[in-house]
Amino acid sequence: MAELVFFSGTMDCGKSTLALQMDHNHRARGRAGLIFTRFDRAGQSVLSSRLGLSTPAVEVSDGLDLWDVVVERRTGGHRVDYVICDEAQFYSPAQVEQLARLVDEMDVDVFAFGITSDFRTQLFPGSRRLIELADKVQVLQVEALCWCGRRATHNARVVDGVMVVEGEQVVVGDTEAAAPGVVEYEVLCRRHYMRRMNSRAAHAAALSADVLPLELDACPLP
Ligand SMILES: [Zn+2]
Repeated sequence: MAELVFFSGTMDCGKSTLALQMDHNHRARGRAGLIFTRFDRAGQSVLSSRLGLSTPAVEVSDGLDLWDVVVERRTGGHRVDYVICDEAQFYSPAQVEQLARLVDEMDVDVFAFGITSDFRTQLFPGSRRLIELADKVQVLQVEALCWCGRRATHNARVVDGVMVVEGEQVVVGDTEAAAPGVVEYEVLCRRHYMRRMNSRAAHAAALSADVLPLELDACPLP
């Protein structure tokens, strides 16, 4: 019985590494799969991990029908026993529904990997649909850490070194006109997310006074 499984985590928790490992494990057992991704850090049509591994993948563009892609592969004589979806938070709800249909009507296992919520702490539409439809949601065990050493549960957007909580949901790279400046992301624990205290702000606070950035008084709520 095929399943739709959503593996969720923050950034930096090793999702893409696990996606590659899962592909390897299934291939080693003689199964044939297809890999989808969107906005991978290494560019189009590739799934890469921070550990330096990568593999070709199908880029999920806006209107791409994932059901049709698998049907075409099978019509062309290729087996598709499972599908691995990286960066699944960037898929549309309709594309997530196509994945569910692959499970139910074609008996294809779907393993989706993604971040649940954006830099404003709001669910990505694709992740919301996955949580709604998945047979299983698994929170990844490899935990990213905040600069303070606590478990990082939130993704912060940092523009020119300063954490922001407003803006477009998806900004990839630093070429978007909507968000001038150098856009980076940093994982934080909730208390430092709520206080908008990214590592650079904490470092600056530590240098500017004899306060300890680990103390909450040093970073009051905005
Ligand atoms: Zn923290």
